[in-house]
Amino acid sequence: MARPEKFRIIKSPPAFYRFKPAGPMMRQLEHIYLSLGEYEAIRLADYEGLEHNDAAKLMEISRPTFTRLIEKARKKVASFIIDGRALVIEGGNIHFNENLIKCMDCGFVFPFTIENEVNKCEKCGSANISDLALKFGHGRCCRNRRRGGKNT
Ligand SMILES: [Zn+2]
Ligand SMILES: [Zn+2]
Repeated sequence: MARPEKFRIIKSPPAFYRFKPAGPMMRQLEHIYLSLGEYEAIRLADYEGLEHNDAAKLMEISRPTFTRLIEKARKKVASFIIDGRALVIEGGNIHFNENLIKCMDCGFVFPFTIENEVNKCEKCGSANISDLALKFGHGRCCRNRRRGGKNT
């Protein structure tokens, strides 16, 4: 029996996930897809400035896996900047540790526990909110993982 593929653990969903150069429309451009795992690798190593070893631990993967992940991610981001492509963050074998909520009325973005469901904006009270974990097809699976405490 094949060993189930290990999930990469991500702190929270990205607040922004579609990018393009100024000028052409999204649909006119060749798309680059950055996986959620690749996004997290960039966030941890290049944004937070963590050592690969520490970043790998947070994502619950090995250091060589992390190094491969960040190398792929950097190539994609470089191509986005230099080749003038569209960049979309999506996909990947992942679970979130926390959620991120975006208010569709006032634009406020705030972190929220993955364990609970949120029904209104913390700033303006609007119920017109976007659950970003859910947007990436996650939520229930992430809660189950945290309850079970197993990385499968
Ligand atoms: Zn709001
Ligand atoms: Zn999940």
